[in-house]
Amino acid sequence: MLDRSCPDCNVPLFQFKDGTVKCASCNRKVIFAKSDEEIQVLESRLHQQEAFLDLLATLHGKASYLSQEIASQTDIDKLEKLLGILGSLLDVIYKAQRIQNEFLTLNFEKRNKQ
Ligand SMILES: [Zn+2]
Repeated sequence: MLDRSCPDCNVPLFQFKDGTVKCASCNRKVIFAKSDEEIQVLESRLHQQEAFLDLLATLHGKASYLSQEIASQTDIDKLEKLLGILGSLLDVIYKAQRIQNEFLTLNFEKRNKQ
């Protein structure tokens, strides 16, 4: 438990082992900022993270669709094409996950410096 409370409901905040600060009542993540400029930077990063989460969800959806297509495909040429697309898709998912992890690492380092 931290000595700070949730800006919305005033319930004391908790910090988890990964550095994340959350309100147990609202079940929301809380990020501290020291200036308006920092708030803008954090909000921008948060929007980027949300966009990446949407992208990852879309990519996982496509991988799931391709998996079903591959499972039912009996034509070898079509199967080869599907596997090629799946390979490219997995590369993109891998890169997107790496970028997502970098976002998380950056946030964690920033919090630890405070
Ligand atoms: Zn709250």
